Amino acid sequence: MDCLFCKIIEGSIPSKKVYESGSVYAFRDINPMAPVHVLVVPKMHIPSMDGVNAENSARVADIFEAIPKIAEAEGLTNGYRVISNCGEDACQTVKHLHFHLLGGRKLPDQMA
Ligand code: 5GP
Ligand code: ZN
Repeated sequence: MDCLFCKIIEGSIPSKKVYESGSVYAFRDINPMAPVHVLVVPKMHIPSMDGVNAENSARVADIFEAIPKIAEAEGLTNGYRVISNCGEDACQTVKHLHFHLLGGRKLPDQMA
């Protein structure tokens, strides 16, 4: 499958790994929008939030268990933001479900 993040997960495209478990991979965004900008993804290919269902939602739960661990390891003691862009209107560019973990500075209070 021609998926950028699947290639990053399998290692054929390099990335700066920050966390890995059996089902979750996290790496630094190539174009960081904050001092800490990590992408947290399921190893399983799920195209977007629209593809989450009863069969794969446990993988999404794994991501949400990983996020506080990554935030702590990254020193985000003063808070952080988690964003997932889904589809056209949200400007999703990579069609493999991912969660942006952003922090390390005061983020804008406007989300959109
Ligand atoms: P989206 O716009 O789909 O929510 O987010 C995709 C993110 O992937 C963007 O923030 C973009 O900078 C990041 N990205 C795109 N290509 C690469 C890559 O090859 N390596 C890494 N580490 N991040 C990438
Ligand atoms: Zn994929």
